[in-house]
Amino acid sequence: MTTTAPRDEQLWSRCDGCASLLYRKRLRRNLDVCPECGSHARLDAPDRVAQLVDPDSFTPLPERAVRVDPIGFVDALPYPHRLSAARTGTGLDEAVVCGTARVGGHPVALAVMDFRFLGGSLGCAVGELITRTAERALADATPLVLVTASGGARMQEGALSLMQMATVSQAVAGLREAGLLTVSVITDPTYGGVAASFATNTDVVLAENGARLGFAGPRVIRQVTGATLPEGFQTAEFLLRHGQVDLVVPRHALRGRLTALLAAAEAGRRVPVPRQEPAPRPAAGADAPAAAPGPARDAWETVRTARHPGRPTTLDYLETAFDGFVELHGDRLGADCPAIVGGVARLDGRPVMVIGHQKGHTTAELVARNFGMASPAGHRKALRLMRLAARLRLPVVTLVDTPGADPGVAAEQQGQAAAIAENILALSVLPTPVVAVVTGEGGSGGALALAVADRVLMLEHAVYSVISPEGCAAILWPDSSAAPQAARALRLTAADLCRLGVVDEVVPEPRPAAHGDPAGAAELLGRAVTANLAPLLAVPPATLVRRRRQRFRRFGAARAADLNVQRDALRNGARTEVAQ
Ligand SMILES: [Zn+2]
Repeated sequence: MTTTAPRDEQLWSRCDGCASLLYRKRLRRNLDVCPECGSHARLDAPDRVAQLVDPDSFTPLPERAVRVDPIGFVDALPYPHRLSAARTGTGLDEAVVCGTARVGGHPVALAVMDFRFLGGSLGCAVGELITRTAERALADATPLVLVTASGGARMQEGALSLMQMATVSQAVAGLREAGLLTVSVITDPTYGGVAASFATNTDVVLAENGARLGFAGPRVIRQVTGATLPEGFQTAEFLLRHGQVDLVVPRHALRGRLTALLAAAEAGRRVPVPRQEPAPRPAAGADAPAAAPGPARDAWETVRTARHPGRPTTLDYLETAFDGFVELHGDRLGADCPAIVGGVARLDGRPVMVIGHQKGHTTAELVARNFGMASPAGHRKALRLMRLAARLRLPVVTLVDTPGADPGVAAEQQGQAAAIAENILALSVLPTPVVAVVTGEGGSGGALALAVADRVLMLEHAVYSVISPEGCAAILWPDSSAAPQAARALRLTAADLCRLGVVDEVVPEPRPAAHGDPAGAAELLGRAVTANLAPLLAVPPATLVRRRRQRFRRFGAARAADLNVQRDALRNGARTEVAQ
């Protein structure tokens, strides 16, 4: 916002976005967001702190900025003169304000950059202060929140400024090792060395509406390449589309989003990590027979039910079976795949990381979500969230509903096979409980990329298969019209897979199926996941991983004899349970 004539300065401001003349008090009440056009004016660090943290909870760090002029830099003015002018102009010691505070009742260590101070540039003192803030977070075992606003590294301190990117990053790494949440809040503008270090190497990256972030600024890119830059280049929305940030958040929602993330991280830390293996006891439902299936259906009919457009999707379950979902976007490498959704949510009061395939109910929704077929970016987003969950000690719940991974040309170019392979590997050693639920179609490798779990559940009318019945029929039968026969032959129903030991438990659906009573289906799903998750929380991570690997080890040929017994049971149409 540009203030008008000095006499009116305290009363009126002109919006940089729409040029409206705004009553200053009204603007302040609206968090310096223009009520006319929604433009977010830049905030200085003290105002930002006041908006973000609980009242009276901010305590500045005792450390003062050190005065440094390491290389005796002089341009039109000696560097110390510029520093003095910045100090006078802002009332700050340096381009960052650091301290501890509470946000929504949760303790944090907080560093907030101020663009007014030499363009928020990152020099030795700023690097030192942010590093001290991270060290304080580590000492207090609290999350770290960094609010960035910077043109980049401070030229006047030469290569020592460049080193600050590494100094702060190694402190962020320390928090990562300790399983403490780090969040950056990108504000306008965030560029250069700050963008290429602690603004983006944190666990969660939130971008405020209207923020721009990039390594090189638009002017430099135009000069170097001569290219015309696309509309909205480097804006928050552009970054979201290209997988660079988790969320774009309007200013008034920042506190709420931060609070939800901090609550999830705090809950993960409250649960003590079990060191001793508990006395062996059966996992939930291991003794009980799988939920009594309804009247036997033909496998092809089940395939059609599993694909019913009214069947609840992952986002439906997140609305109904879970609470407080905060979606996290992007693979941080260039894309945000719409066929995979994920983020933190609560299940029965406990924070979990939920990751699932997303289809849709209408043709438009299905097209927008690529029919639930994940791209390599989708698998990489899932991988990022799995690893984040493990660091924060949050259990992972996956909801599987995909015809298969995206079979397109671009997906192949971007390494679809390797992306799936990496997820299977990562899940098999993930040191946190994982419960997978096949809710609709469990199609091939795309499904398995989310289903290497401690407990694998399957909805009563879901299917899980190495290939679609149509695909199988086209290859092994004269033509794809033999899909119903192929469906029967593939043994892809929940009851069949339970007998084969691929699935641990069948989750019953309301009659006739989930699409007839989505709320009822959500309740049954929530109950089943909660029951299966509870015993896993008492298992030390190393034991979890060992058991999970054993679980999948047993599908090897050494178990062929057992599998033959199961095959005979299937052939006889026996409904008897086969001992695991
Ligand atoms: Zn405006």
